[in-house]
Amino acid sequence: DAALAAAAAPVPSDSPTIFDKIINKEIPSNVVYEDDKVLAFRDINPQAPTHIVIIPKVKDGLSGLSKAEERHCEILGRLMYTAKLVAKQEGLDDGFRIVINDGPNGCMFALCSCHDSFEERELWLSAKRVKDHHRETYCAIVMLSGSFVGQSVYHIHVHLLGGRQMNWPPG
Ligand code: ADP
Repeated sequence: DAALAAAAAPVPSDSPTIFDKIINKEIPSNVVYEDDKVLAFRDINPQAPTHIVIIPKVKDGLSGLSKAEERHCEILGRLMYTAKLVAKQEGLDDGFRIVINDGPNGCMFALCSCHDSFEERELWLSAKRVKDHHRETYCAIVMLSGSFVGQSVYHIHVHLLGGRQMNWPPG
């Protein structure tokens, strides 16, 4: 059906994402660090006691790391450096992990159909490992963003995770 086809269609790398709405303060987020180049905010679906998403304010074609070109070296370095600053600010003195997911294999649950039915929605929330007490807020914000589909956010982002022992290999 049409909704499914739309969900499966490739996303042009310069399309706006939910992160643009966060940058423009059109939707709420819990910002922990901001300067003229980058923004860091708490992940709405935390996978560790501290889970922060760090993004460039200007996407400049960087929908993911696989789209990086030499001109992006400065902003990529800035994202790494911001991870260090925020880790310090968050008191992650015993260590932390940074993650950049890329493409369907890199993401937890890259693509799914539109979540018309309750069952589909529950399946998606489980695949995303959204904890029960976060589900309502998560759905509200994702729906507010107008993209209640399980695709990745095509705006490069660094995950900063800490506050617990990380495992290897990652899932
Ligand atoms: P994944 O990396 O799991 O495939 P996505 O690429 O879809 O996930 O999203 C990147 C991250 O951004 C996820 O960890 C998700 O929880 C988080 N996220 C999505 N929307 C928001 C939001 N409105 N506020 C905070 N974090 C968000």
